[in-house]
Amino acid sequence: MSFDNLGLDRRLLQAVGKLGYAEPTPIQRETIPLALAGRDIIGCAQTGTGKTAAFMLPTLQRIPARPGAIRALVITPTRELAGQIETFTKEIGKTTNHRCAVVYGGVGYEPQRKALRRGVDVLVACPGRLLDLVNAGHCDLRHVEVLVLDEADRMLDMGFWPDVKRILSNLPEKRQNLLFSATMSPEVLKVIGSTLTNPAQISVSPTATPIDKITQSIYPVGGQDKTDLLLHLIDKHRLTRVLVFTRTKHRADRVAKQLDRAGVRGAAIHGNRSQAQREKALDSFRRGHVKVLVATDVVSRGIDIDDITHVVNFDLPGTPEDYVHRIGRTARAGRSGSAFSMMSPEEHTNLRDIERKIGATIACEDAEGFTYKDKRMVPDPDREANPAPVQRPPAGSGRKGRPGGSARRNRRTGGTTGSGVNRNAS
Ligand code: AMP
Repeated sequence: MSFDNLGLDRRLLQAVGKLGYAEPTPIQRETIPLALAGRDIIGCAQTGTGKTAAFMLPTLQRIPARPGAIRALVITPTRELAGQIETFTKEIGKTTNHRCAVVYGGVGYEPQRKALRRGVDVLVACPGRLLDLVNAGHCDLRHVEVLVLDEADRMLDMGFWPDVKRILSNLPEKRQNLLFSATMSPEVLKVIGSTLTNPAQISVSPTATPIDKITQSIYPVGGQDKTDLLLHLIDKHRLTRVLVFTRTKHRADRVAKQLDRAGVRGAAIHGNRSQAQREKALDSFRRGHVKVLVATDVVSRGIDIDDITHVVNFDLPGTPEDYVHRIGRTARAGRSGSAFSMMSPEEHTNLRDIERKIGATIACEDAEGFTYKDKRMVPDPDREANPAPVQRPPAGSGRKGRPGGSARRNRRTGGTTGSGVNRNAS
């Protein structure tokens, strides 16, 4: 299947050609023809599936370039995502002549007001700043023909929904709505359902997500050993492009500092950092000047870097959806990747929820050669006979063999087993 068969016009095909995309991704294949036909869409797809092009290409075709009034509005939760959507749109705009501006908080108002005064076809916005600009009369949304709500579930989680609703009340009632969400909870559908007209529902099936290309493993470890284990893993696997996730901003800063102290170049990126600091950290990571980027969930969706080889969950995330998002930062653009998750005894329930969500059990791995300070976590060679002192969640059955790998711990018994991710075992 090529882009030629989706109904895109010559200029858009030319623009896509310049991006080097050989063929459409599943979400693009399904979304583009329906969106071109003017349908409202509910798309269930994660970042990394190609959803930006899925909504932006048909949108640009439906609003021919005529900079003046904003005719397409994309609302997205984070500055990083907004920046990426803007970059993509400007890239296409070089061929189609569409003009795009972006507005988000944490930076000065005047450049954004100026861009709006110049006139744009497409506005990409985070909800808070957009609402400020609308309320102050700097942004007229009365001519919007296409509305894209990106990462709707995340906007709900982050408490942006009241702002989004106020923004929607400034839009014309007659418009096309393209809604994208990584998860489609009844809550999201309830909130958004009433604004859509006969929407086509598109879902990129979970098994088609990049998760299949990611080798996942769990490292049981006591809380105080996590930093040392991280250093051990970086050293042992010679990691040079690794994204580490922590539960809090404070922990992200602390881990980055500890890495630095140990001679590993790292940078932290989270919601307390200014836009300039975040961009600087991302840029250093992209260029390879720092090899470890430590992040929190809020900013994770903005991290769109193709060649991250490893994601490390320093802490297991609170929700299974965040786990899927985090590990989806690796194995991008058709590559494979690995996700190492450290699990302290308190985090067992998080793992159970994650395994239920992904329909698989994740193998426990021993950190060979690592000196555990927390002796409870030391792998015990006799543990087949002696159940582990740490209570572990029930393991799935029928694990697959792993060619030539090191021994992995069986979660229930603490003994070793050759295993990888075992889909649908739980
Ligand atoms: P997104 O889900 O929109 O964040 O896209 C994730 C990544 O996939 C981006 O780096 C895009 O450049 C890339 N991408 C999107 N569509 C395609 C495609 N059809 N072929 C190859 N790469 C793509």
